[in-house]
Amino acid sequence: MNNALPTSIVGSLPKPAWLAEPEKLWSPWKLEGAELVEGTRDALNLAADDQLHAGIDIISDGEQTRQHFVTTFIEHLGGVDFDQRETVRIRDRYDASVPTVVGAVTRERSVFVDDAEALRARTDRPIKWALPGPMTMIDTLYDRHYGSREKLAWEFATILNQEARELQAAGVDIIQFDEPAFNVFFDEVKDWGVATLERAAEGLRSETVVHICYGYGITANTEWKATLGSEWRQYEESFPLLQRSGIDMVSLECQHSRVPLELIELLRGKKVMVGAIDVASSAIETPEEVAETLRSVLPFVDADKLYPSTNCGMAPLARDVARGKMIALAGGAEIVRAELAGAAPSLAASPHGL
Ligand SMILES: [Zn+2]
Repeated sequence: MNNALPTSIVGSLPKPAWLAEPEKLWSPWKLEGAELVEGTRDALNLAADDQLHAGIDIISDGEQTRQHFVTTFIEHLGGVDFDQRETVRIRDRYDASVPTVVGAVTRERSVFVDDAEALRARTDRPIKWALPGPMTMIDTLYDRHYGSREKLAWEFATILNQEARELQAAGVDIIQFDEPAFNVFFDEVKDWGVATLERAAEGLRSETVVHICYGYGITANTEWKATLGSEWRQYEESFPLLQRSGIDMVSLECQHSRVPLELIELLRGKKVMVGAIDVASSAIETPEEVAETLRSVLPFVDADKLYPSTNCGMAPLARDVARGKMIALAGGAEIVRAELAGAAPSLAASPHGL
Protein backbone atom coordinates (compact mmCIF):
# COMPACT_ATOMS: atom_id res chain seq x y z
CA MET A 1 0.00 0.00 0.00
CA ASN A 2 1.64 3.22 -1.12
CA ASN A 3 -0.35 5.95 0.51
CA ALA A 4 -1.15 6.69 4.12
CA LEU A 5 -4.59 5.87 5.56
CA PRO A 6 -5.90 3.48 2.88
CA THR A 7 -9.70 3.39 3.06
CA SER A 8 -11.99 0.37 2.72
CA ILE A 9 -15.47 -0.76 3.70
CA VAL A 10 -15.93 -3.63 6.17
CA GLY A 11 -18.00 -5.72 3.81
CA SER A 12 -21.52 -5.49 2.50
CA LEU A 13 -23.22 -2.80 0.44
CA PRO A 14 -26.94 -2.48 -0.33
CA LYS A 15 -28.06 -4.64 -3.25
CA PRO A 16 -29.88 -3.16 -6.28
CA ALA A 17 -33.69 -3.42 -6.04
CA TRP A 18 -33.81 -5.70 -9.10
CA LEU A 19 -31.63 -8.27 -7.33
CA ALA A 20 -33.11 -8.36 -3.81
CA GLU A 21 -35.52 -6.31 -1.74
CA PRO A 22 -33.58 -3.28 -0.51
CA GLU A 23 -32.98 -2.06 3.04
CA LYS A 24 -33.46 -5.55 4.41
CA LEU A 25 -30.97 -8.06 5.85
CA TRP A 26 -30.98 -11.60 4.41
CA SER A 27 -33.40 -10.49 1.68
CA PRO A 28 -34.31 -13.32 -0.75
CA TRP A 29 -33.12 -13.17 -4.37
CA LYS A 30 -35.51 -11.86 -7.02
CA LEU A 31 -33.74 -13.80 -9.80
CA GLU A 32 -32.86 -17.46 -10.24
CA GLY A 33 -30.60 -19.76 -12.28
CA ALA A 34 -28.47 -18.13 -14.97
CA GLU A 35 -30.22 -14.79 -14.45
CA LEU A 36 -29.17 -14.82 -10.79
CA VAL A 37 -25.55 -15.53 -11.74
CA GLU A 38 -25.56 -12.67 -14.25
CA GLY A 39 -27.44 -10.37 -11.86
CA THR A 40 -25.07 -10.90 -8.95
CA ARG A 41 -22.07 -10.35 -11.25
CA ASP A 42 -23.57 -7.07 -12.50
CA ALA A 43 -24.23 -6.03 -8.91
CA LEU A 44 -20.65 -6.88 -7.91
CA ASN A 45 -19.32 -4.68 -10.71
CA LEU A 46 -21.62 -1.82 -9.68
CA ALA A 47 -20.51 -2.18 -6.05
CA ALA A 48 -16.86 -2.00 -7.12
CA ASP A 49 -17.54 1.02 -9.33
CA ASP A 50 -19.38 2.83 -6.52
CA GLN A 51 -16.33 2.39 -4.28
CA LEU A 52 -13.95 3.55 -7.02
CA HIS A 53 -16.08 6.64 -7.72
CA ALA A 54 -16.18 7.45 -4.01
CA GLY A 55 -12.38 7.31 -3.85
CA ILE A 56 -12.08 4.18 -1.68
CA ASP A 57 -8.57 2.70 -1.86
CA ILE A 58 -9.11 -1.01 -1.12
CA ILE A 59 -12.05 -2.46 -3.04
CA SER A 60 -14.47 -5.15 -1.82
CA ASP A 61 -17.26 -7.07 -3.58
CA GLY A 62 -19.93 -5.46 -1.40
CA GLU A 63 -21.07 -9.06 -0.67
CA GLN A 64 -23.40 -8.82 -3.65
CA THR A 65 -23.33 -12.59 -4.27
CA ARG A 66 -24.32 -13.58 -0.72
CA GLN A 67 -27.63 -13.57 1.02
CA HIS A 68 -26.01 -14.00 4.43
CA PHE A 69 -22.36 -13.65 5.47
CA VAL A 70 -22.23 -17.15 7.00
CA THR A 71 -24.92 -19.33 5.44
CA THR A 72 -24.02 -18.55 1.82
CA PHE A 73 -20.59 -20.05 2.50
CA ILE A 74 -22.03 -23.08 4.32
CA GLU A 75 -24.46 -23.74 1.44
CA HIS A 76 -21.46 -24.77 -0.66
CA LEU A 77 -20.19 -27.36 1.84
CA GLY A 78 -20.88 -31.08 2.10
CA GLY A 79 -22.02 -32.60 5.41
CA VAL A 80 -24.61 -29.89 6.11
CA ASP A 81 -28.32 -30.59 5.55
CA PHE A 82 -30.32 -27.43 4.86
CA ASP A 83 -33.63 -29.34 5.01
CA GLN A 84 -33.01 -30.51 8.58
CA ARG A 85 -33.43 -27.30 10.52
CA GLU A 86 -33.16 -26.69 14.24
CA THR A 87 -33.74 -23.53 16.24
CA VAL A 88 -30.61 -22.39 18.05
CA ARG A 89 -29.62 -19.30 20.00
CA ILE A 90 -27.21 -17.25 17.87
CA ARG A 91 -24.40 -15.58 19.82
CA ASP A 92 -26.49 -16.12 23.00
CA ARG A 93 -28.76 -13.37 21.71
CA TYR A 94 -31.53 -14.39 19.33
CA ASP A 95 -33.13 -17.58 18.01
CA ALA A 96 -32.80 -18.63 14.40
CA SER A 97 -33.68 -21.70 12.37
CA VAL A 98 -30.36 -23.11 11.14
CA PRO A 99 -29.20 -26.10 9.06
CA THR A 100 -27.81 -29.27 10.66
CA VAL A 101 -24.33 -30.80 10.41
CA VAL A 102 -25.11 -34.46 9.60
CA GLY A 103 -21.68 -35.76 8.50
CA ALA A 104 -18.06 -34.78 7.99
CA VAL A 105 -17.95 -31.23 6.61
CA THR A 106 -16.16 -30.88 3.27
CA ARG A 107 -15.58 -28.18 0.70
CA GLU A 108 -16.26 -29.81 -2.64
CA ARG A 109 -15.49 -26.76 -4.76
CA SER A 110 -14.41 -23.17 -4.28
CA VAL A 111 -17.15 -20.87 -3.07
CA PHE A 112 -16.12 -17.32 -4.00
CA VAL A 113 -13.17 -17.70 -6.38
CA ASP A 114 -15.14 -16.85 -9.57
CA ASP A 115 -16.49 -13.73 -7.89
CA ALA A 116 -13.03 -12.75 -6.67
CA GLU A 117 -11.62 -13.14 -10.18
CA ALA A 118 -14.39 -10.86 -11.48
CA LEU A 119 -13.55 -8.23 -8.86
CA ARG A 120 -9.83 -8.59 -9.66
CA ALA A 121 -10.60 -7.92 -13.32
CA ARG A 122 -12.60 -4.80 -12.43
CA THR A 123 -9.87 -2.77 -10.70
CA ASP A 124 -6.11 -2.41 -10.35
CA ARG A 125 -6.49 -1.31 -6.73
CA PRO A 126 -5.90 -3.76 -3.87
CA ILE A 127 -8.94 -5.94 -3.20
CA LYS A 128 -10.24 -7.38 0.06
CA TRP A 129 -12.47 -10.42 0.52
CA ALA A 130 -14.48 -11.36 3.63
CA LEU A 131 -15.09 -14.91 4.88
CA PRO A 132 -16.85 -16.00 8.06
CA GLY A 133 -14.55 -17.10 10.91
CA PRO A 134 -14.64 -20.67 12.27
CA MET A 135 -16.31 -19.82 15.60
CA THR A 136 -19.04 -17.75 13.97
CA MET A 137 -19.68 -20.58 11.50
CA ILE A 138 -20.29 -23.19 14.18
CA ASP A 139 -22.51 -20.74 16.05
CA THR A 140 -24.79 -20.55 13.00
CA LEU A 141 -25.38 -24.35 12.76
CA TYR A 142 -26.87 -27.24 14.68
CA ASP A 143 -24.31 -30.07 15.08
CA ARG A 144 -25.49 -33.67 15.06
CA HIS A 145 -22.17 -35.20 13.95
CA TYR A 146 -19.09 -33.91 15.81
CA GLY A 147 -20.52 -33.38 19.29
CA SER A 148 -17.83 -30.76 19.97
CA ARG A 149 -17.83 -27.08 19.03
CA GLU A 150 -14.04 -27.05 19.06
CA LYS A 151 -13.70 -30.05 16.77
CA LEU A 152 -16.11 -28.58 14.23
CA ALA A 153 -14.28 -25.24 14.41
CA TRP A 154 -10.97 -26.94 13.48
CA GLU A 155 -12.70 -28.62 10.52
CA PHE A 156 -14.08 -25.29 9.32
CA ALA A 157 -10.68 -23.66 9.82
CA THR A 158 -9.15 -26.19 7.41
CA ILE A 159 -11.90 -25.54 4.86
CA LEU A 160 -11.55 -21.76 5.23
CA ASN A 161 -7.81 -22.05 4.70
CA GLN A 162 -8.38 -23.92 1.42
CA GLU A 163 -10.78 -21.21 0.26
CA ALA A 164 -8.45 -18.40 1.42
CA ARG A 165 -5.51 -19.90 -0.50
CA GLU A 166 -7.60 -19.98 -3.69
CA LEU A 167 -8.75 -16.40 -3.14
CA GLN A 168 -5.11 -15.41 -2.73
CA ALA A 169 -4.26 -17.16 -6.00
CA ALA A 170 -7.11 -15.24 -7.65
CA GLY A 171 -5.37 -11.99 -6.68
CA VAL A 172 -7.05 -11.07 -3.39
CA ASP A 173 -4.66 -8.84 -1.41
CA ILE A 174 -6.44 -8.86 1.95
CA ILE A 175 -8.55 -11.67 3.42
CA GLN A 176 -10.92 -10.74 6.23
CA PHE A 177 -12.49 -13.16 8.69
CA ASP A 178 -15.74 -12.05 10.35
CA GLU A 179 -15.83 -13.30 13.94
CA PRO A 180 -18.64 -11.52 15.84
CA ALA A 181 -18.79 -14.62 18.08
CA PHE A 182 -15.46 -13.43 19.59
CA ASN A 183 -17.46 -10.79 21.49
CA VAL A 184 -19.58 -13.41 23.27
CA PHE A 185 -17.72 -16.65 24.01
CA PHE A 186 -14.63 -15.35 25.79
CA ASP A 187 -13.47 -18.66 27.28
CA GLU A 188 -13.65 -20.37 23.90
CA VAL A 189 -11.85 -17.46 22.23
CA LYS A 190 -8.98 -18.06 24.65
CA ASP A 191 -9.10 -21.88 24.49
CA TRP A 192 -9.34 -22.41 20.73
CA GLY A 193 -11.00 -19.42 18.99
CA VAL A 194 -7.83 -17.51 18.11
CA ALA A 195 -5.99 -20.78 17.34
CA THR A 196 -8.63 -21.91 14.82
CA LEU A 197 -8.64 -18.42 13.28
CA GLU A 198 -4.85 -18.65 12.86
CA ARG A 199 -5.31 -22.08 11.27
CA ALA A 200 -7.75 -20.51 8.76
CA ALA A 201 -5.07 -17.90 7.94
CA GLU A 202 -2.12 -20.32 7.95
CA GLY A 203 0.50 -19.90 5.21
CA LEU A 204 -1.20 -16.96 3.50
CA ARG A 205 0.87 -14.25 1.85
CA SER A 206 -2.22 -12.06 1.56
CA GLU A 207 -2.77 -9.84 4.58
CA THR A 208 -5.35 -11.04 7.07
CA VAL A 209 -7.96 -9.11 9.04
CA VAL A 210 -10.38 -10.09 11.79
CA HIS A 211 -13.64 -8.15 12.14
CA ILE A 212 -15.30 -8.83 15.51
CA CYS A 213 -18.07 -6.26 15.85
CA TYR A 214 -21.12 -5.50 17.98
CA GLY A 215 -23.53 -6.17 15.12
CA TYR A 216 -25.99 -4.31 12.95
CA GLY A 217 -28.80 -2.09 14.18
CA ILE A 218 -31.25 -5.05 14.24
CA THR A 219 -33.45 -5.28 17.36
CA ALA A 220 -31.70 -8.28 18.96
CA ASN A 221 -28.34 -6.52 18.69
CA THR A 222 -29.67 -3.16 19.86
CA GLU A 223 -31.25 -4.81 22.92
CA TRP A 224 -28.02 -6.70 23.67
CA LYS A 225 -25.97 -3.53 23.35
CA ALA A 226 -28.33 -1.80 25.81
CA THR A 227 -27.29 -4.38 28.44
CA LEU A 228 -23.57 -3.69 28.01
CA GLY A 229 -23.47 -0.46 30.00
CA SER A 230 -21.94 2.87 29.09
CA GLU A 231 -18.59 1.42 28.10
CA TRP A 232 -18.15 -1.63 25.84
CA ARG A 233 -15.02 -3.32 27.16
CA GLN A 234 -15.47 -6.78 25.58
CA TYR A 235 -12.45 -6.22 23.31
CA GLU A 236 -10.30 -6.09 26.42
CA GLU A 237 -10.52 -9.91 26.40
CA SER A 238 -9.79 -10.56 22.74
CA PHE A 239 -7.39 -7.77 21.73
CA PRO A 240 -4.37 -8.97 23.77
CA LEU A 241 -4.82 -12.46 22.27
CA LEU A 242 -5.05 -11.02 18.76
CA GLN A 243 -2.05 -8.77 19.38
CA ARG A 244 0.00 -11.93 19.98
CA SER A 245 -1.58 -13.79 17.05
CA GLY A 246 -0.46 -14.12 13.44
CA ILE A 247 -3.43 -12.05 12.18
CA ASP A 248 -2.18 -8.80 10.61
CA MET A 249 -5.08 -6.43 11.18
CA VAL A 250 -8.07 -5.92 13.48
CA SER A 251 -11.27 -4.10 12.53
CA LEU A 252 -13.42 -2.29 15.09
CA GLU A 253 -16.21 0.29 15.24
CA CYS A 254 -15.31 3.76 16.51
CA GLN A 255 -18.13 5.98 15.18
CA HIS A 256 -20.97 6.41 17.73
CA SER A 257 -19.82 3.24 19.53
CA ARG A 258 -19.18 2.93 23.23
CA VAL A 259 -15.88 1.12 22.76
CA PRO A 260 -13.29 3.06 24.82
CA LEU A 261 -10.72 4.09 22.23
CA GLU A 262 -7.78 3.42 24.56
CA LEU A 263 -8.51 -0.32 24.12
CA ILE A 264 -6.90 0.05 20.68
CA GLU A 265 -3.61 0.42 22.55
CA LEU A 266 -3.89 -3.31 23.35
CA LEU A 267 -3.30 -3.97 19.63
CA ARG A 268 -0.11 -1.88 19.36
CA GLY A 269 1.99 -3.18 16.50
CA LYS A 270 -1.00 -4.48 14.54
CA LYS A 271 -2.76 -2.66 11.74
CA VAL A 272 -6.18 -1.36 12.77
CA MET A 273 -9.22 -0.87 10.55
CA VAL A 274 -10.98 2.00 12.33
CA GLY A 275 -14.74 2.30 11.76
CA ALA A 276 -15.47 5.98 11.21
CA ILE A 277 -18.88 5.44 9.58
CA ASP A 278 -21.98 4.51 11.62
CA VAL A 279 -23.90 1.81 9.73
CA ALA A 280 -26.90 1.89 12.09
CA SER A 281 -27.88 5.44 11.04
CA SER A 282 -28.93 6.89 7.68
CA ALA A 283 -27.41 10.25 8.57
CA ILE A 284 -24.40 10.73 6.29
CA GLU A 285 -21.28 11.77 8.18
CA THR A 286 -19.41 14.85 7.01
CA PRO A 287 -15.76 14.38 5.99
CA GLU A 288 -14.85 16.52 9.02
CA GLU A 289 -16.72 14.14 11.37
CA VAL A 290 -14.82 11.22 9.85
CA ALA A 291 -11.55 13.15 10.24
CA GLU A 292 -12.36 13.85 13.89
CA THR A 293 -12.88 10.12 14.59
CA LEU A 294 -9.61 9.27 12.85
CA ARG A 295 -7.72 11.92 14.81
CA SER A 296 -9.18 10.56 18.06
CA VAL A 297 -7.54 7.14 17.56
CA LEU A 298 -4.10 8.44 16.54
CA PRO A 299 -2.80 8.33 20.14
CA PHE A 300 -3.42 4.56 20.13
CA VAL A 301 -2.41 3.42 16.64
CA ASP A 302 0.61 4.38 14.55
CA ALA A 303 -0.51 6.45 11.56
CA ASP A 304 1.08 4.02 9.11
CA LYS A 305 -1.07 1.23 10.58
CA LEU A 306 -4.38 3.13 10.51
CA TYR A 307 -6.92 1.92 7.93
CA PRO A 308 -10.06 4.13 7.89
CA SER A 309 -13.21 2.05 7.37
CA THR A 310 -16.89 1.61 8.21
CA ASN A 311 -18.16 0.25 11.54
CA CYS A 312 -19.66 -2.82 9.85
CA GLY A 313 -21.45 -3.77 6.62
CA MET A 314 -23.84 -1.30 4.98
CA ALA A 315 -26.35 -3.82 3.51
CA PRO A 316 -29.41 -2.46 5.39
CA LEU A 317 -28.93 1.16 4.22
CA ALA A 318 -30.37 2.88 1.14
CA ARG A 319 -27.92 2.86 -1.79
CA ASP A 320 -27.57 6.65 -1.98
CA VAL A 321 -26.88 6.76 1.77
CA ALA A 322 -24.16 4.11 1.45
CA ARG A 323 -22.63 6.02 -1.49
CA GLY A 324 -22.68 9.25 0.51
CA LYS A 325 -21.02 7.55 3.47
CA MET A 326 -18.23 6.16 1.28
CA ILE A 327 -17.56 9.63 -0.17
CA ALA A 328 -17.42 11.02 3.39
CA LEU A 329 -15.02 8.26 4.42
CA ALA A 330 -12.66 9.02 1.54
CA GLY A 331 -12.95 12.76 2.20
CA GLY A 332 -12.27 12.41 5.92
CA ALA A 333 -9.21 10.25 5.29
CA GLU A 334 -7.93 12.85 2.81
CA ILE A 335 -8.21 15.60 5.45
CA VAL A 336 -6.15 13.65 8.00
CA ARG A 337 -3.70 12.49 5.31
CA ALA A 338 -2.99 16.14 4.50
CA GLU A 339 -2.56 16.96 8.20
CA LEU A 340 -0.13 14.08 8.66
CA ALA A 341 1.78 15.14 5.55
CA GLY A 342 2.14 18.61 7.05
CA ALA A 343 3.36 17.21 10.35
CA ALA A 344 5.65 14.53 8.93
CA PRO A 345 6.37 15.01 5.22
CA SER A 346 7.73 11.48 4.76
CA LEU A 347 4.42 9.86 5.66
CA ALA A 348 2.38 11.01 2.71
CA ALA A 349 5.22 11.66 0.28
CA SER A 350 4.04 8.93 -2.05
CA PRO A 351 1.34 9.94 -4.53
CA HIS A 352 -2.27 9.18 -3.71
CA GLY A 353 -3.53 6.19 -5.63
CA LEU A 354 -2.41 2.62 -5.40
ZN1 LIG B 1 -19.76 -6.17 11.75
